[in-house]
Amino acid sequence: MLPPKHIETLAVHAGRHIDPLTGAITAPIHLSTTFERAADGEYPTGFSYSREGNPNRQALEECLTALEGGKEGLAFASGMAVLNAVLQSLEPGDHVIVAEDVYYGLRKLLKEVFPKSPLQFTFADTTNLDAVRAAITPATRLIWCEVPSNPLLKITDLSALAEIAHKANAISICDATFATPVLLQPFRHNIDMVMHSTTKYIAGHSDVTGGALITRADNYLFERVRHVLNHGGPVPSPFDCWLTRRGIDTLPLRVRAASASAMRIAEFLAAHEKVEVVHYPGLPSHPGHALAAGMMSAFGALLSFQYKGCKDSTMALVARTRLLIRATSLGGTHSLIEHRQSVEGRDSKTPKNLVRIAVGLENVEDLLADLEQALRQ
Ligand code: PLP
Repeated sequence: MLPPKHIETLAVHAGRHIDPLTGAITAPIHLSTTFERAADGEYPTGFSYSREGNPNRQALEECLTALEGGKEGLAFASGMAVLNAVLQSLEPGDHVIVAEDVYYGLRKLLKEVFPKSPLQFTFADTTNLDAVRAAITPATRLIWCEVPSNPLLKITDLSALAEIAHKANAISICDATFATPVLLQPFRHNIDMVMHSTTKYIAGHSDVTGGALITRADNYLFERVRHVLNHGGPVPSPFDCWLTRRGIDTLPLRVRAASASAMRIAEFLAAHEKVEVVHYPGLPSHPGHALAAGMMSAFGALLSFQYKGCKDSTMALVARTRLLIRATSLGGTHSLIEHRQSVEGRDSKTPKNLVRIAVGLENVEDLLADLEQALRQ
């Protein structure tokens, strides 16, 4: 028997099949919304209607499941669609513990889209396990964390969090968008489900929006989420699935290269006189460094720092970069820089002097030179 495949090999091969009609090694994009039914009423290919399943979506789901080492995966039209589907799958009265520094879109969803939600929420610092234990109630069904978190790159002890969830008969979900399966495999830490905004590193080129939920084993919530996806309809298009699957071919190479550059940039910023503090788990000074070193194979390509200045001078600093592009998001080939508080809006808890950098694939010397000139002025 062949040994288990490495992630680089899975990234190229998982979910890929030679097209039986043409021999094409690159999958065609299947635009058909409907599939022929056999005389006996069965669907011989397993596909009936594109909302419920499509060959490109299936290929992407198979690939993501293999990368995570999970049982099954579902692809969505966006990361937010995953969050939405999970919330819709809970029962009225269910209690959810959410990391206090969770992606601000979830906070917005709860406040603005589900303002009358019958769910109960507690925001807790998931890096403080006592705070998580204290937040548990008899109705707790779900614990939601992000590793690393945004924008302070906090690191939660996933094994400990999963244990707390299981003792409480709750499901644990880790949003591992920033880490990707290349750097972190939450199932090795007994987390029940992993979610990604595939818009970021997984698709990898800032040209397609998507999301995914992968489960380690069968569970009732995953089945309900599947129902929301297939019947609620937040499905990705065949072309979006195709683009995302293509992006995965180079995922391990891209993530490792960008993480190495991020480490250099974090070290440069940490030594700079105009920088108050750098938030990057690769730096020994980061409170989550030891935990991240134990759980992750590298520290990722996202970092933030606090400038020695007020909000306006921090905005001005961000406006001075020439190569790093002023834009939100992460995980593409371009390096992006942003004043995070003003992106998150009024309810943001992010410090006003915080700058977030999503490191891309440019040569790190050019990125360092750009940051150097922006900080010098
Ligand atoms: N989770 C994290 C960590 C994110 O950064 C984002 C988006 O930035 C999302 C979820 C939402 O994903 P999407 O923008 O694909 O809907």
